[in-house]
Amino acid sequence: MNAVMTPRASDLTSSIRHQLFIDGQFVDAASGETLISVNPHDNSPIVAVAMAGHADIDRAVAAARRAFPRWSRMAAAERGRILLKVADLIEAHAEELARLESLDTGHPLRDSRRLDVPRTAACFRYFGGMADKFQGDTIPVEAGFLNYTLHEPVGIVGQVVPWNFPLMFTGWKMAPALAAGNCIVMKPAEITPLTSLRIAELMSIAGVPDGVVNIVPGLGAVAGQYIAEHPEIAKVSFTGSTATGRRIVNASAGNLKKVHLELGGKGPNIVFDDANLQAAVNGSAWAIFHNQGQACIAGSRLMLHERIADEFLDKFLPLARSIRLGNPLDEATEMGPLTSSQHRDRVLDYVGIAQAEGGQLLAGGQSPGGELAAGCYVEPTVVQAASFKDRVAQEEVFGPFVTVLPFKSDEEALQIANSTDYGLGSGLWTGGLQRAHKFARDLSAGMVWINSYKRVNPGSPFGGVGRSGYGREMGFEAMREYTNVKSVWVNVDAQIPAHFER
Ligand code: NAD
Repeated sequence: MNAVMTPRASDLTSSIRHQLFIDGQFVDAASGETLISVNPHDNSPIVAVAMAGHADIDRAVAAARRAFPRWSRMAAAERGRILLKVADLIEAHAEELARLESLDTGHPLRDSRRLDVPRTAACFRYFGGMADKFQGDTIPVEAGFLNYTLHEPVGIVGQVVPWNFPLMFTGWKMAPALAAGNCIVMKPAEITPLTSLRIAELMSIAGVPDGVVNIVPGLGAVAGQYIAEHPEIAKVSFTGSTATGRRIVNASAGNLKKVHLELGGKGPNIVFDDANLQAAVNGSAWAIFHNQGQACIAGSRLMLHERIADEFLDKFLPLARSIRLGNPLDEATEMGPLTSSQHRDRVLDYVGIAQAEGGQLLAGGQSPGGELAAGCYVEPTVVQAASFKDRVAQEEVFGPFVTVLPFKSDEEALQIANSTDYGLGSGLWTGGLQRAHKFARDLSAGMVWINSYKRVNPGSPFGGVGRSGYGREMGFEAMREYTNVKSVWVNVDAQIPAHFER
């Protein structure tokens, strides 16, 4: 008998935070409206969450404005100390956060425990340490003058987060913004707000002053759009679809906000004929099937050299078919449901699109029946496309759906890899040092993984080129995103300007 019991969703719901978090308080929306958060395992309701409208966002912005002078002028080391405390509290509540994330998103509990929660804590810890180390320069200008730079927080930052990694993205976006001295109005995705609200509460306990962090769950077209338009918000950082990214850029024009966009991807994952095949098979399954393929950096184009394609697929297809789908709260589950039923239907539509284009379905392609039929599940799906120009080789499916594309030469591999409008994650498997570096140079991408895929670290810049967006999360780059540089000139020798000398 299995000694580990799968917890019931109701065991987790009694203490869930479900109101807006504004000025250090949990409050209802001014309109009283709510949105139901749903468990994607069986589409049962979890909790009704307050839904922010314009009045609530104005209230959150006002609170952030009041908090800004104190937070931005606090010693950087002190801000850092508070963020380190946030990291400690996340670790102290790791199991609770992992379960809440799995309940709300469908991430398998083993992934929430092993990846989402530790990565969120690591991000707060990294930027806690960074707060007092991100410093300006002294520039050697002409004699008699001193020139130095100040990195100043931009002010009130709007952050709009998607539903695929809500907890982790809360850390990626908040930690650098706070380390740099900004105040935040964050909108989680309407379908996955629960862990962001809990993190806000832990931040309060850690000593983040009231008003510094405000969380306003709500609809994208209402709350998200208003954040992008808001005249008192100085910067908006967004992760999500390219279509919404465009809307945000348009909406931000009124006050010429700084904009950071982390958008979609169609990651090429290239396996050459000199690769360690077993490593490539396992790494390619991770590249696409982790988080049910709902990752902007997913390796969703599996490019195989024709000499090893059959041997690769002989190992990869049985592996894909053997992945254990199930309740995300069951410890044995390797793949959970997609995060919503609309999204499941959208992913399944691509199976028909592939077949209509002359593609061949090699594995999966449907929702499982039995006890998973009520949830948002999709089997690990492998499709061989007829052409690299087909929609399934060009459009982001954002699910456990990988498109196989064979190639004959390095030149053809590069042409196919760079044939989409996207440029986010990319990977290659090869034993050739020169080939590895050549592709690292020539791929149109923000990130390249060699004999690996989908590695992230709080110190390593994360972002894309082309329609995958601009700006970078993580590392020093993220601190630059959340600051303005001021150049200060001092006339040290008290020289009198000579231009109009009389
Ligand atoms: P989306 O871009 O519509 O939503 C992401 C976030 O943006 C959510 O918080 C949403 O409420 C908000 N939003 C929506 N409209 C907005 C607007 N007009 N102004 C401001 N904010 C707005 O994405 P989606 O509909 O949830 O997913 C659709 C597709 O987007 C996916 O299938 C996938 O291709 C892509 N996606 C990418 C990522 C990523 O990590 N890059 C994440 C989620 C979705």
